[in-house]
Amino acid sequence: MIKYLNERSGPSPLEKCLPLNAMLFSESVSLLQKLIATPSFSGEEDEAAEIIQEYLSGYSIKTKRKGNNVWCYNKYYDSAKPTILLNSHLDTVKPNEGYTNDPFCPEILGGRLYGLGSNDAGGCLVALLATFLHFYSYKGLGFNLCFAATAEEENSGYNGIRSVLPFFGDLQLAIVGEPTLLQMAIAEKGNLVIDGVCLGRSGHAAREEGDNAIYKCIKDIEWLRTYEFPQVVKGISPVKMTITVIKAGSQHNTVPAKCEFTVDIRHDDTYTQQHILDTIKNHVSAQIQVRPGSLGATSITPHHPIVKAGQMIGCKTYSSPTTSDQAWLSIPSVKIGPGNSARSHSSDEFIFLEEIKNGTKLYIKLLNTLPLILINNPIKPKNEINHFNN
Ligand SMILES: [Zn+2]
Repeated sequence: MIKYLNERSGPSPLEKCLPLNAMLFSESVSLLQKLIATPSFSGEEDEAAEIIQEYLSGYSIKTKRKGNNVWCYNKYYDSAKPTILLNSHLDTVKPNEGYTNDPFCPEILGGRLYGLGSNDAGGCLVALLATFLHFYSYKGLGFNLCFAATAEEENSGYNGIRSVLPFFGDLQLAIVGEPTLLQMAIAEKGNLVIDGVCLGRSGHAAREEGDNAIYKCIKDIEWLRTYEFPQVVKGISPVKMTITVIKAGSQHNTVPAKCEFTVDIRHDDTYTQQHILDTIKNHVSAQIQVRPGSLGATSITPHHPIVKAGQMIGCKTYSSPTTSDQAWLSIPSVKIGPGNSARSHSSDEFIFLEEIKNGTKLYIKLLNTLPLILINNPIKPKNEINHFNN
């Protein structure tokens, strides 16, 4: 039986040894300003990756790089200890047309730092980096840290985190930085995108000719709109299917021979993507194709020490409707970070400077609390980390 500490009895040894360095905060802000001023769309993060490498080399920290992914380890890395991955992404989406300011101008106004990628996920990235630096040269650390700034998160690209995971070495836990208002996402929905095609036969609209592909599609679309996968929990369906694109027809007097539609599917881990797909194929007449890059649902047990540590320091836990690089990880992970997901991909994106500061403090506190949770835990829980000794 795992015994968790219910309350703290003063600061941990790490907190006493390593107070939060105010310099780190101002450096984090300058670094983020530099990153904002450097366009880093998915697949084009080379300069941003260089900035991270340069910044770390200023601390004499050796980095590894593959493509536009950069990673490094704590100074006293010990392979006998568990390793925690601190990860966030370097890439941004393209600025939308609603911008009223320059998306690449990292202006600070009224406590807000504006710019593309400031909130998603620059704030998280620099806060995790500051956290890494905070612990970097601490000899008595009960764990290793692997900090990784990775590419192609926004497009779930092949050259992002999944291309470098095999090079990170053994990992036991990951903290993925995404804007969550510092709440801890302990489950993340998966995303599957499918394209459907219904084929009919063209003919003149004035005569009883042809076989209208739109009418065929309507039946499928109605099924997709109304079908409920059986295992509904608390009124929430485990699979949400939304028609987001439909294309058919070219002129008013011709019966269309082809109708295409796209379905965006969000799901938890109640059903596998294969099961969802098989169910759809069994019910619709359209030919179905799955788009590459589907992301599976993830979750971590609420009994995991990192979740307990988060709860102990006041983090709320929740299930996230959005996907992230967590989907590529096969180890326990949580998604947490400064900023607000609602501001991601929006115009005039910004992050409060206070959010970056609080995010850094929270990450540090979380890592300081984790060993305390395991102090009275002599048994290694399945798939969970142990032997965090300070
Ligand atoms: Zn993001």
